[in-house]
Amino acid sequence: MKFAKRMSRLGTESAFEILARAQKLEKEKGIEVVHLQIGEPDFDTPRNIRDSAINAINEGYTHYTASPGMPEVRAAISEYYYKLRGVKYDPDQVVVTSGSKEVMFSLIMMLAEEGTEVIYPDPGYPIYKSVIDFAGATAVPIPLREENQFRLDVNELKKLVTPRTRLLIINTPENPTGSVLTRRDVEEIYKLASDNDFLVMADEIYSRVIYDIEFASISQFDKKQERVIILDGMSKVYAMCGWRLGWGLMPKTLAPGVARMQTNITSCATSFIQKATVDALLGPQDDPAKMVAEFKKRRDFFVDGINQIEGFSCLKPPGAFYVWPNIKRTGWKSIDLFEYLLTELGVAGLSGTAFGEEGEGYLRFSYANSIENIDKAIKRIKEAMPALIKERVK
Ligand code: PMP
Repeated sequence: MKFAKRMSRLGTESAFEILARAQKLEKEKGIEVVHLQIGEPDFDTPRNIRDSAINAINEGYTHYTASPGMPEVRAAISEYYYKLRGVKYDPDQVVVTSGSKEVMFSLIMMLAEEGTEVIYPDPGYPIYKSVIDFAGATAVPIPLREENQFRLDVNELKKLVTPRTRLLIINTPENPTGSVLTRRDVEEIYKLASDNDFLVMADEIYSRVIYDIEFASISQFDKKQERVIILDGMSKVYAMCGWRLGWGLMPKTLAPGVARMQTNITSCATSFIQKATVDALLGPQDDPAKMVAEFKKRRDFFVDGINQIEGFSCLKPPGAFYVWPNIKRTGWKSIDLFEYLLTELGVAGLSGTAFGEEGEGYLRFSYANSIENIDKAIKRIKEAMPALIKERVK
């Protein structure tokens, strides 16, 4: 079989592969695996949203919609964002998609091409680099360092910008590190983009999964709305990963292109899910608040536990639902320790290197799981580490 060359450049998101492997291990070896590999809330979708979708099906919301989304949904997203961030986007600037990943894919495919450069965070969400490579552009990593609490360093970023830079991708709160950019960070990033005439795609999918600190959006600096694309969706904060509903807020000039990409891929986001999205965004917000409060408890529990494991150390991430422990003192490579934890201890996390070269020396665990399960994972690792360290550190 002959594949198009570009297929060899398409990467993947290993969380999905590890989920399948862990499930196979459970079945074949009878190991009880603690699943901390995937970024999916373990909560049910709130009742009012489920009811709204069921009603929408019964009311006949079962047809195609316009590619960029139903007008009432685009208007609801615009209103929601205004309430949340104080920035007004016209409904024409909203494109509703089947998950925010689709905005990511479409935008990168629209903007990146051979001879252009796209800067992306490393460690970072693996789909960014995958699609930049697929598009044939040059993927330029901006390292996120522990010394800077895994926030992008604007001075370092400045050195990576060239006349070929077309797009910068930022993600705040960040997957996998949980870092959150400050208001000053995003202001400086915006200025750099403006001075050097490149666009910024801000992945804000975790913007409401944040603990005790203020969230600042780069959209608040893009007064003319000509340079920033905001990517968001229902997956994380409303526990709706499997529903597949996301959106982009963008300059007027970009929206028709993203909509056209959608016409070519899925035609439109599912109509009754679009309808339920209106009720979710404009209805009561108690359930998301409860979920975030629960995540915070788990984060504190997890970080405290990890810091008692020999060879591990972990900063307290201010956002998202991942911990990103440093394992350099164990003497193990990330991929080997990840493999050992999965196959020998039944703890499924991810190797830091699944998020880029800068992920060497780290592991990622999701805390979208119960305290009871997190405790089980910590105990298993804590017990095993002293002997494992002895084996490697002489
Ligand atoms: N961005 C980041 C940083 C993510 O972690 C994820 C999901 N893991 C997505 C985007 C994709 O979300 P969606 O379900 O909206 O496609």
